[in-house]
Amino acid sequence: MRPFTYTGAKTTLEALKAANANPSSHYLGGGTNILDLMKEDVAQPTELIEVTSLEHKQVIRNEKGGLTLGGMLNNSETANHPEVRKQYPLLSMAMLSAATAQIRNMATNGGNLLQRTRCPYFFEVSMPCNKREPGTGCGALKGMNALHAIFGWNNKCIAVHPSDMAVALAAIGATIEARKTDGSSRMIEMADFHRLPGDTPEKDTNLLPGELITAIHLSKADFSKHYYYLKIRERASYAFAIISVAAGLQIENGKIIKAGLAMGGVAHKPWKLTAAENYLSGKAPNQENFEAAAKLSMKDAKPLADNKYKVEMGEKAIVRALAQAYERQA
Ligand code: SF4
Repeated sequence: MRPFTYTGAKTTLEALKAANANPSSHYLGGGTNILDLMKEDVAQPTELIEVTSLEHKQVIRNEKGGLTLGGMLNNSETANHPEVRKQYPLLSMAMLSAATAQIRNMATNGGNLLQRTRCPYFFEVSMPCNKREPGTGCGALKGMNALHAIFGWNNKCIAVHPSDMAVALAAIGATIEARKTDGSSRMIEMADFHRLPGDTPEKDTNLLPGELITAIHLSKADFSKHYYYLKIRERASYAFAIISVAAGLQIENGKIIKAGLAMGGVAHKPWKLTAAENYLSGKAPNQENFEAAAKLSMKDAKPLADNKYKVEMGEKAIVRALAQAYERQA
């Protein structure tokens, strides 16, 4: 690991000031991703600015009738918070499927959304990787790409985003609050927070340099009764999703009033299934409609050489997640 300096920020302004003063610095939350990247020489910050002592560690009610989750609160406390479990059980279920209890105890909510892809070529510094070193090419494109994207990719990068929490937030709908280095705040809709690779695959999000996630705002809960997070993975713990589906249904008088659907493991960002959500609205919650919604969701998939299986698996996963969400009674 290369040498770096450590700054323990006591206030948000102190953290922002330090980040502004050093463009090669990196915020340090739970350290569950950045330290691994530094050990492998994938990331080389010259300074770590610890932000875990900052004030953004609560779950509070907000003016939209929903909850605001602190950016520095850890994933375990968030997922197990009684109000999160009651109002947003889909989010809680997704978060508890991630990593291990030990990692969830350390990882912060802000850090969870900023974790980097687990594409093996990204971690192997002897291989070309446009995300790690822009302009060097994509090792996975003609390499082993069984776990890579089927939506939204291009020749520059075919990686997938690894966060389960982000997939649930995409299904539910959320707003990310970030503080700029001048101290001002701005709100970013979840759909606009993560990026597709485009010409800059090295950028995972639309955050500006030095910007710090301070909160995640959730609107009034729609899916507290019918929800399911389906995660298909190679083993039951400590594994990223091959494919995941976050499904929420609001049902009244035998009809779906609103659907929230997003997939993980299929794109550079959480993949919102807007066409399927619209299709399901006003329909009966039955197998036929779930299958039609799933077909609609997968029709534009562009699989790579090794991941054609994800198209059929994805379609079946959507049907299963919707059926489980319907049958589930909170
Ligand atoms: Fe790098 Fe993206 Fe290609 Fe993986 S898929 S090697 S992260 S450019």
